[in-house]
Amino acid sequence: RPLIIGLTGGIGSGKTKVSDLFAGLGIDIIDADVLAREVVEPGAPALKQIADHFGKQILRADGQLNRGALRERIFSAPDEKAWLNALLHPLIRQLMQERTHAATSPYCILAIPLLVENQLHTLVDRILVVDVQEGIQRERVTTRDKVSAQQVDAILASQASRAQRLAVADDVIDNSGSLEVLSRQVEKLHQQYLLLAKNLKA
Ligand code: ATP
Repeated sequence: RPLIIGLTGGIGSGKTKVSDLFAGLGIDIIDADVLAREVVEPGAPALKQIADHFGKQILRADGQLNRGALRERIFSAPDEKAWLNALLHPLIRQLMQERTHAATSPYCILAIPLLVENQLHTLVDRILVVDVQEGIQRERVTTRDKVSAQQVDAILASQASRAQRLAVADDVIDNSGSLEVLSRQVEKLHQQYLLLAKNLKA
C-alpha cells in the first residue's frame, strides 16, 4: 500500500486548495466527504436502514437522502445522532481503508476534515494540518459562502481547536499567506513525501 497522508484543518483553512495542489502533482486524493455521501447513495444498504429507521420522509422524491431533513431529525436528538454515526462511521472507515490501499501514486492524501474530532489517526501514516488564524477562516468562509460571521463562529466552536490539531500534526502548512506561498509549501512537502514513500518501500 502507498504511504497515507491524512490532511485536515478547520473550516475554510484551505484543505480543498491544498488537495487540488497535490492532485496537480499527480497524487491520488481520497476525500472523506465524498465517501460519506457514497455510503448513502440510492441502492446502498445504509440508505435503506436509514429509511427504515427514520421513515420514508427522510428520502426525497428522487430516492436520494434528504440531508436537511436528516440534519433536523438528529439536531437535538443525541440518541438518533449516535445511532446514525454507529451505522455510517464503520462504513466510511472501511471505504477510506479500501481506497487508500488501492491508490497508485507513490503516496496518497486522505482528506478528513474531522480527523481529530473523530479520532481517525490510525488510518494514516502522517498527519498534515492546514493551519490559519480564526480571523482569516472567518473572512475566507464569509467571502466564499452566504453565511454570517456568527454562523462561522458556531462551526469553529464545534470543531477541534487549532491547538488540538497542531498537537497531533506531523507536518503543518501555514495558509495565512498568498496562494503562491501555499503552492511552494505543498511542493516542498511533496518532495519530502516522495522520499518517505521511497524509504518505506526499501
Ligand atoms: P471547508 O472546510 O469549508 O470545506 P476548506 O478547508 O476546503 O474549507 P478552501 O475551500 O480550500 O478551504 O478555502 C476556503 C476559501 O478560501 C476558498 O474560497 C479558497 O479559494 C480561499 N483560499 C484558500 N487559501 C487561500 C489563500 N492562501 N489566499 C486567499 N484565499 C484562499
